[in-house]
Amino acid sequence: MNRGPVLATIITIGDELLIGQTIDTNSAWMAQELNKIGIWVHRRVAIGDVWKDIWQALDEESQLSDVVLITGGLGPTADDITKPLLCHYFGGKLVVHEESLQNVKHIFETILKRPLIERNLKQAEVPDVCTPIVNKRGTAPGMWFEKEVQVKDGSHKTKYFVSMPGVPHEMKGMMHHYVLPQLHEKFELLPIVHRTLLTAGIGESFLAERIQDFEKNLPSNIKLAYLPNYGMVKLRLTASGNDAKTIAELDACFDMLQQEVQDVMVINEDLPLEAVIGKILIEKKQTIATAESCTGGYIAHLLTSRSGSSAYYKGSIVSYANEVKEEVLGVTADTLEQKGAVSKETVVQMVRGALDTLKTNYALATSGIMGPSGGSLDKPVGTVWVAVGNKDKIETHCFHFRFDRDRNMQLTATNALNMMRKFILSNS
Ligand code: AMP
Ligand code: MG
Repeated sequence: MNRGPVLATIITIGDELLIGQTIDTNSAWMAQELNKIGIWVHRRVAIGDVWKDIWQALDEESQLSDVVLITGGLGPTADDITKPLLCHYFGGKLVVHEESLQNVKHIFETILKRPLIERNLKQAEVPDVCTPIVNKRGTAPGMWFEKEVQVKDGSHKTKYFVSMPGVPHEMKGMMHHYVLPQLHEKFELLPIVHRTLLTAGIGESFLAERIQDFEKNLPSNIKLAYLPNYGMVKLRLTASGNDAKTIAELDACFDMLQQEVQDVMVINEDLPLEAVIGKILIEKKQTIATAESCTGGYIAHLLTSRSGSSAYYKGSIVSYANEVKEEVLGVTADTLEQKGAVSKETVVQMVRGALDTLKTNYALATSGIMGPSGGSLDKPVGTVWVAVGNKDKIETHCFHFRFDRDRNMQLTATNALNMMRKFILSNS
């Protein structure tokens, strides 16, 4: 059994990752899963489907890490070279893995109902020096290798190499079924434990000023991280180990941190804002609706991406065009003509329209200029009106963002949801 901190490298392989055509989501996901079980990912390496680059990365990373997780390059086409390379690297020869062959046959004959060609059959081959990992979600098996590697001080250490397909869904299946349980067996792991809270309405540097004494006095085994995102900042405390003493110490620090930021804290859990609103509404047995112009349903998407949201979210009226604002939400022609679609009066009427039409306790409305076109001198790109309210009261705010379309959209959604959250808390 290995002891001490366990270090991992994630190598992602594929030309498409290097040119930015495919975004590498695999390493972020794997890093989170490894972190949960106490394996520290200290390097992430992205390389193309190039023999010497992959070879070199295996040499270098096995010097630095105990575990090297690899994804990509296992497809049936000529550009995918990971398997023959690994076979060569570990000095084996390719042999048919019977269980994977049955799996490939089953997928083609029963599920896809297509004839199997030689190229597909080859997917069931693995180097005879690895432990094959059956792919329950696809055709390419994964491969687990172990190798004695001479490290810098001259000693030999067992290093573990795992190759998995690039397809995220297939890689995740293998990680859960095989790789993570195996790593638990090979190493004595100290779980990494986090306590996270979310703040809103205060910038990262002001927050850091405010809690500098707290931070200075933290015990050495507890680390504080600032994670800013769209006007909100998450604060995360991290400790290694889940023994009672460590947990008690971590919880005591977390209590202190919560007191320090009490007035700006949204929630003392690692939850996004839309989930926080969901929790509050479930507790109050109340409902909301949205009337979205500039966010085009994005807020509806955020709210409905939470399982169970039907308990409190009724729907959205995506009123992008003025006709829809008028005909569906009842915004008056006068308002649209005299004040414009991006105005306080319009969003107020949008909230009333959503409350009437969707019959909820609360509604929020957005209308703004997301850019890059559409701005004017008095309403430049980034001008956004938001209204939140119930049948008795409506509050509005005009934001002045000045970024690109994507960021303006995200900022509008976050700020609108935060306004909604505060309104619900003080008006229910
Ligand atoms: P491959 O195993 O190289 O045949 O990759 C199969 C598919 O997975 C391709 O569509 C890749 O674009 C995708 N893919 C490969 N690596 C990654 C990664 N690191 N993150 C997300 N998708 C990936
Ligand atoms: Mg590939």
